[in-house]
Amino acid sequence: MTVPSTAGRTPAAVLAEAADARATVVLSGHVQPDADALGSTLALAEGLRRRGARVHATFPGPPTLPASLGWLPGAEGLVPSGAVPTAPDVFVGLDAASPGRLGELAAVLERAGTSVVLDHHASNPGFGDVRLVDPAAPATVVLVAALLDELDVALDAPLATLLYAGLAADTGSFRFGSTRPDTHHLAARLLGTGIDHAAISRRLFDTAPFGWLRLLSAVTGRAALEPEVGGGLVWTWSTTAEAAEHGLPGEQLEALVDVVRSTAEADVACVLKGQDDGTWSVSLRSRGATDVARVAMALGGGGHRAAAGFTSHEDRGTTMARIRGELAAGR
Ligand code: AMP
Ligand code: MN
Ligand code: MN
Repeated sequence: MTVPSTAGRTPAAVLAEAADARATVVLSGHVQPDADALGSTLALAEGLRRRGARVHATFPGPPTLPASLGWLPGAEGLVPSGAVPTAPDVFVGLDAASPGRLGELAAVLERAGTSVVLDHHASNPGFGDVRLVDPAAPATVVLVAALLDELDVALDAPLATLLYAGLAADTGSFRFGSTRPDTHHLAARLLGTGIDHAAISRRLFDTAPFGWLRLLSAVTGRAALEPEVGGGLVWTWSTTAEAAEHGLPGEQLEALVDVVRSTAEADVACVLKGQDDGTWSVSLRSRGATDVARVAMALGGGGHRAAAGFTSHEDRGTTMARIRGELAAGR
């Protein structure tokens, strides 16, 4: 069946109709998936499956998940991006700020009967036929929780585990400014299903191989503080090759910025993560005074005011010069 792409329809209406018609729905989050991208994808996929849709949940890029996410309920049912229907009735993009963040699945979004975009990035330009983009939402899983309610899908422990993972990850375990009273209300509802939230947090945030300590030592050892740049800049770098020297997969570079950003003298923290293909994946964090989404967008990426990123095809020195330039321009 083809769901007509009528402007003005809500994601809930499109998805309820698709489920009732047993339509084919492909769901995907962004490249280098995190707990919000995967948690929202897997939770909505399971909800739609229970409602009768023919569901294919996937993610862009290499079909392997970081160990910190591979345990999520339903992760074993994820299919490689090349194995999903290329022109489904409905495509749902989750936690992806732009079509580019969907990687090879942007082509499936284009060819779908109806494309639905669920996201919370301030930098989202608005794409897809039917959109729910709420920059005030602390995580995409918040939007999915509301959708599951609208679809009359009962929240049980597996669904709550997925939603809690995304919520805890994107709010920094409820520390970031995006956390609102209703964020805690949702968390309370999720805990009420009996989930093991301590185990979820331990798996997501507090588990790494011993080699990560040695990597952290090397990376923090070369960190530079530039108090004169913008409101102060602290930055460092690593590469997937360096991670491999410590017996670590490249995804272990992701948590480095969470240590670097604690530097009191710098409003902005930056970690350059060298990828296998020679590009730099850049993480930017702000302690409050600087809008790093603006910096990332100026350099071809996106994100939120306090956490953003972009990909650089230039060398390390040039990449840092561009970042310094944007930080100086913003003040
Ligand atoms: P990260 O530093 O990779 O944890 O990303 C921080 C935030 O910026 C997340 O919300 C990402 O979705 C977003 N982000 C990172 N890289 C990009 C990019 N290349 N384009 C758009 N958004 C990005
Ligand atoms: Mn994300
Ligand atoms: Mn998110």
